[in-house]
Amino acid sequence: MENNKTFTMIKPDAVANGHIGGILDQIIKAGFSIKAMKLTALTPEKAGEFYAVHKDRPFYKDLVNFMSSGPIVAAILEKDNAVEDFRKLIGATDPKKAEEGTIRNRFAESIEANAVHGSDSDENAAIEGAFYFSAFERV
Ligand code: UDP
Repeated sequence: MENNKTFTMIKPDAVANGHIGGILDQIIKAGFSIKAMKLTALTPEKAGEFYAVHKDRPFYKDLVNFMSSGPIVAAILEKDNAVEDFRKLIGATDPKKAEEGTIRNRFAESIEANAVHGSDSDENAAIEGAFYFSAFERV
């Protein structure tokens, strides 16, 4: 499987707080190129489907409500070693633990409203990209 793609969402908190530009700027300066992108919104059903892997976790219901609370930006990104490098760029799930200068350190509000999503494996990057984008919506 290719290891040069990852999938990201700029989450509702970061869109509402005016951080789309700042986050995309940091992503591009870190060497990622955008292969697909859209501003969209998740229904609770779609958010539940996207995060189905977490359905037994205590935070699932709140996460689904949060992720369907406003617009998001979804994007497929390309770079060598994309998944691992992007996870480093965004920092730890909890912004209080995210390293200085990472996207979550700079832009996130809380462990839930943590500004961005980043795929955790090449397999999930492919699944998540396909969740949002058809072949015709990619360059
Ligand atoms: N999340 C949460 N509470 C937690 C852990 C996670 O609300 O205690 C949310 C948070 O938005 C996170 C998402 O659930 O980004 C998915 O969790 P995961 O453990 O996969 O973290 P990630 O891979 O996004 O860093």
